[in-house]
Amino acid sequence: MEMDYENRVVSTEYLPEDEGDNPLRPKTLSEYIGQAKVKENLSVYIDAAKIRGEALDHVLLYGPPGLGKTTLSQIIAGEMGVNIRITSGPALERPGDLAALLTNLDSGDVLFIDEIHRLPRTVEEILYPAMEDFAIDIINGKGQGAASIHLPLPRFTLIGATTRAGQLSAPLRDRFGVVLRLELYTPEELGQIVSRSAKILDIPCDEDGTIEIASRARGTPRIANRLLKRVRDFAQVMNGGVITADAARRALDRMEVDELGLDMVDRRMLEAMIKHYNGGPVGLDTVAAVIGEESVTIEDVYEPYLMQLGFLSRTPRGRVVLPAAYEHLGIDYTGQLTL
Ligand code: ADP
Repeated sequence: MEMDYENRVVSTEYLPEDEGDNPLRPKTLSEYIGQAKVKENLSVYIDAAKIRGEALDHVLLYGPPGLGKTTLSQIIAGEMGVNIRITSGPALERPGDLAALLTNLDSGDVLFIDEIHRLPRTVEEILYPAMEDFAIDIINGKGQGAASIHLPLPRFTLIGATTRAGQLSAPLRDRFGVVLRLELYTPEELGQIVSRSAKILDIPCDEDGTIEIASRARGTPRIANRLLKRVRDFAQVMNGGVITADAARRALDRMEVDELGLDMVDRRMLEAMIKHYNGGPVGLDTVAAVIGEESVTIEDVYEPYLMQLGFLSRTPRGRVVLPAAYEHLGIDYTGQLTL
């Protein structure tokens, strides 16, 4: 069967229907729910930089998509009282693209580069002196007449976001003074996010309805907000608009998102590993081939949540399906667990 990976309701990727989520973005650190350790660290660095009257040190944020890296960067800029420019690794094709952005920054400004692990090498090389010495050298002209111009830059803060910190080159990673890892959210934290979003969007949602949505949102605020909006549509038709536990359950069942937030793709992946490989260990590339999905997507998007649930384990010899997953899928566990 063909899978529509791009439009999974539990996709962590930004989907067209997420547009209009701006009012849902928290604007201050205190409004930002969860990630206690990250917030605590950041507020110390922000306060210190403000006391010294300096730009904040460069910050690297890493973790799975949809956890609030962009939101956090906007909050950092807001708390520092500076502007933020937002771009992404793949959008910066040539050194000149980055140079144009850098030379337009004001002192203290934040430059946010999403998917910084996808920055082309030639662009990355300009970033080193920019981050370290706040200057870049641009080659002007071609051939014999080419001249190098040294351009000083204002002191700025680079915030890099990535789903895969391991893929950053060492020289780039070493130039970030602050490195913060975002974790998947607990169902309780997601519950707070759902109820905050419901208030902002004026959606009547009782406590049990909130819990039902939060527990199926895969630890990811982006998914929680999306499920809330989808369930609202169902509730409007079926339940007079109020999201109760029952309305949420029926809506989510219909979307084939099960009570733990797994959808067809997750189930198919786990079932294939169990049926064809006795639960593993199976190499990542084999898993990818079996379900027809890219290895990086499996690593960044599917696995973090399955690992949080204790359904899957990464071992040196490959992926292993754990007994809890068998139980959830209603399959008898017969395998020898070799971790
Ligand atoms: P990322 O950049 O990591 O992919 P975003 O910053 O775009 O994720 O966040 C996705 C959505 O989730 C945003 O629309 C925001 O409203 C919501 N969100 C993320 N983190 C939080 C949080 N800590 N509290 C409340 N809402 C959040």
